Amino acid sequence: RGKAESPCELWETDAQGIRWNSQDIAAATGGAVEKPGIAAGSICTDTRVLQPGQWMLALKGPNFDGHEYLTQAADIGAVGAIGSQPAPPDWALGYVRVPDTLVALQDLARLIRRRYGQSGAVVGITGSAGKTTTRAMTQLVLQGGLLSGAVHATQGNMNNHIGVPVTLLQLPSDSAACVLEMGMNHFGEIALLADIARPNIRLITNVGPVHTEGVGGIDGVARAKGELFDSAREGDICVINGDDQRVRGLQIPEAARVISFGTAVGCHVRMQNVHAAGPAGLYTRFQLSGREDGSGTEKVDVLLRAPGRHLAMNAAAAAAVGLALGIPLSTAGKALEGYSPVSGRMQVMEAGEALVVNDTYNSSPLSLQAALDLLASIPCGPGCSWKRRVVFLGDMLELGAETQSAHLQALERCTAARVHLLGTAGPLFSQAVDSAPGRALLSKPTNEITAMQTVVETDSTRLAMLATELVQDGDVVLVKGSRGLRMEIVVNAILDKG
Ligand code: ATP
Ligand code: MG
Repeated sequence: RGKAESPCELWETDAQGIRWNSQDIAAATGGAVEKPGIAAGSICTDTRVLQPGQWMLALKGPNFDGHEYLTQAADIGAVGAIGSQPAPPDWALGYVRVPDTLVALQDLARLIRRRYGQSGAVVGITGSAGKTTTRAMTQLVLQGGLLSGAVHATQGNMNNHIGVPVTLLQLPSDSAACVLEMGMNHFGEIALLADIARPNIRLITNVGPVHTEGVGGIDGVARAKGELFDSAREGDICVINGDDQRVRGLQIPEAARVISFGTAVGCHVRMQNVHAAGPAGLYTRFQLSGREDGSGTEKVDVLLRAPGRHLAMNAAAAAAVGLALGIPLSTAGKALEGYSPVSGRMQVMEAGEALVVNDTYNSSPLSLQAALDLLASIPCGPGCSWKRRVVFLGDMLELGAETQSAHLQALERCTAARVHLLGTAGPLFSQAVDSAPGRALLSKPTNEITAMQTVVETDSTRLAMLATELVQDGDVVLVKGSRGLRMEIVVNAILDKG
């Protein structure tokens, strides 16, 4: 490839993408060339993944300062560095000094986006729960349906003001699409990410009581997520969850088109007949159909190799993004059959004769309810394949004023889900159990059980020790908690014992 197709004349591209030189970087970031550097393939912010021939951009975080790693970067073979401090003494490579390296990173990502232009779709995904799962599913759908090139996407959970620009910096210029997860814990964050990435497809999975701490409650969450739609422009498509009142209530600029997904009548991609399937009933089968208004009347049956109605909803969302890009539902449905759970999100694991649903990546009232709904739907007890529902829960963090009520409600929801045994880790659940009126811990007499046994521990390491003794053959075990609680320790202990 010769010159970039975009109107930005700064860039020359080769097969790998942009060749950056010190003048380009300085022009893009408002920086000054302290030492000129040779052209190179790309820019990296982390010496652990830095490749020879790249520029190193020195970010400063609460626990590290990239400037301290510049000599190491030079040893690895960096061609130059971008920093906000003077170049290290005897620095012989290229050096561009910028006022603020985080802003420089975002400016460079903006330019990559501009240069990418209309050559492929950029999909921005936010929402209270399911961003990563939906990103993975969308990537599958687009990979299956767009034949013009590979689909670039967020890796892991790199969804913030650093992760989104870093993902854009790695975008190969010949990608068919770029799928970006966008997270937030305060107002203005999604607006910033949308401004950097300028997605032409903008998806909000749902709005729920997650990360409420920074935005003062669920109405704040809706407003903060809605920032993704606020900047939608002519030709952009906003993909909405038609079942979620708060998402439906968001303002969408008139110039943008709307595509909806959900179970509600009238959704462009409608999900119906969701039921458990597959071995142990932990796959999900459902039907997707297109609305009869020109978006297609197709119907497709999908077998998702993962449990839970909520994951099926994410699949419908991914199919809606596909539809927005002209991918038929049948192609999307086929691609979704290749989905396998992302680590720590509803991952089903065998532990001897017990089954563990590893949902330890994080927790919030929204995703806990979804996981408990699944557990409640699994028949357990005499005459069933499974004997008991067991739940190990770590505290839910970042809920602000709703912390106490959310933990009390979680206990009630476990009761409603007919959980036989509950083990908790962390002070928030411990407090909730202490202050819960007896009725919250006793299920109403049913044919199956009359009481939920509860054990309380301070942390996941201690709970893990108990769990190995408590889990029996025939148990279906859900393990879940906020990231800080590291509930995977409990999963690993159960698996080791099994
Ligand atoms: P984070 O904000 O931590 O990045 P996320 O929005 O990317 O989270 P996932 O990582 O996909 O979400 O899933 C996190 C949790 O939410 C998991 O427990 C998962 O099972 C649950 N979850 C996924 N999709 C939904 C959904 N549509 N509704 C409710 N819960 C969901
Ligand atoms: Mg995520």
